[in-house]
Amino acid sequence: MMMNREQKTIFELSSEGRNGFRFPKSDVKAAELPNDLMRETLPLPELSEMDVVRHYTRLSALNYSVDTGFYPLGSCTMKYNPKICEKAARFSGFSQLHPLQPVETVQGALLILYEMQEILQEISGFHAASLTPAAGAHGEFSGVKMIAAYHNQRDNSRRKVMLIPDSAHGTNPASSVMCGFRVQPVNTNERGNIDLKSLAAYCNDELAGIMITNPNTLGLFDENLIEAIDMVHQAGGLVYGDGANMNALLGIAKPAELGFDVMHFNLHKTFATPHGGGGPGAGAVCCTERLRDFLPGPIAAVIEPATDELPPLYGWKMPEKSIGQVGSFWGHFDVIVKAYTYCLMLGRDGLKRVAEFATLNANYLMSALKDVYPLPYDRICMHEFVLDVKWPDAPDVRALDVAKRLMDYDFHPPTNYFPLIVHEALMIEPTETESKQTLDLFIEAMRSIAKEAHEQPELLHDAPVNTPFGRMDEVKAAKDLKITE
Ligand SMILES: *Cc1c(COP(=O)(O)O)cnc(C)c1O
Repeated sequence: MMMNREQKTIFELSSEGRNGFRFPKSDVKAAELPNDLMRETLPLPELSEMDVVRHYTRLSALNYSVDTGFYPLGSCTMKYNPKICEKAARFSGFSQLHPLQPVETVQGALLILYEMQEILQEISGFHAASLTPAAGAHGEFSGVKMIAAYHNQRDNSRRKVMLIPDSAHGTNPASSVMCGFRVQPVNTNERGNIDLKSLAAYCNDELAGIMITNPNTLGLFDENLIEAIDMVHQAGGLVYGDGANMNALLGIAKPAELGFDVMHFNLHKTFATPHGGGGPGAGAVCCTERLRDFLPGPIAAVIEPATDELPPLYGWKMPEKSIGQVGSFWGHFDVIVKAYTYCLMLGRDGLKRVAEFATLNANYLMSALKDVYPLPYDRICMHEFVLDVKWPDAPDVRALDVAKRLMDYDFHPPTNYFPLIVHEALMIEPTETESKQTLDLFIEAMRSIAKEAHEQPELLHDAPVNTPFGRMDEVKAAKDLKITE
């Protein structure tokens, strides 16, 4: 790794004898510890309080985030997270709850969970929802497990094949394998749709189902969707929807009406809750009537209906043939509060405008870049699009080089090398929250990088040069991982 700017570690800043704390005098008797548990030395950095504050404040300013700049990370939906959602989640009435409190004392929290289930059902057209899965992949695992439970109940145990289009997110095959299915990839055709001929070959009595992402990871609404869903249903399979891309469909199309049987939402992508760096997320699963008894639980429910004097009493219900509890307690409550706040703040019309502007922004970028970057699937996109950085007249330049160079222009790079069917993929998702001014600056940067790629490709190969650290040696990082320095 190359250092572009000097960054001292906290150990290098250490100065013997300096410190920023004083322990109070102990008021308990010192205990004898067994000698063999004691270390001879413990090298800790010695710093004043101010040294520590400056060190961490400096480090925090090196972070790139949605709050500091444009973050066009395709598939991840890095939209702006309104601060009011954070504020709501921090209300002490929410943040100080204990998961084992009696339901009578947490009716407000249960009402929010109940209404969030209803909101998701309204948006998706499904009949039931469970908010317990902790992330998108966890929602997939739960939904695919429900498909397995459905076939097992009907004694269709030979149905062991899960079809997955070759453009899918890597979590789809992983979830299927974890649920005991054999994964069969389905080809994508030249327009970026599910190839129906490839699909037909697997529509037999071994078919358990298909996992479809729509819009798919090319950012395209699948023109063969209805037909593909029909074919799978005809063959006795069920259709799983990877709903991570619901940002493009809010208020426009309901997955249940398109024929999906079960789907997860990524609340942390679609409904603006901060994510990345491993969490926290929320991967609510929704399904049709015939799968509702298999949902993971517990689910917020009315356990005593309203009377003339009293509101309904909310509590927990475990669906009859539930696949079980997929996490501890009731799901990621704070994330759900943020998503709930977001939905109420925008309302029905606002959520629809999210989808409209997400799609408009992506098409605006795509149209402004496609004369200088190769665009493998050239048709109107949804909330994201994928470029293929392979210029015949600049063969040494790769998607990775463009991504790194964007950092020198102060932009977060787009997702790269995904989906796998586009070899030099740059997957760009602007989201609805960016202004035209920001999009125009990004276009300018991308066009200027395309020019550099042809005239001074070394600028791209050396990039980034304006960041604290230079280009990482990715092979070395993977083979010789050091996580302590
Ligand atoms: C993000 C994403 C997932 C996985 O969601 P996690 O919350 O990261 O587990 C699955 N499918 C698609 C298409 C995604 O974009």
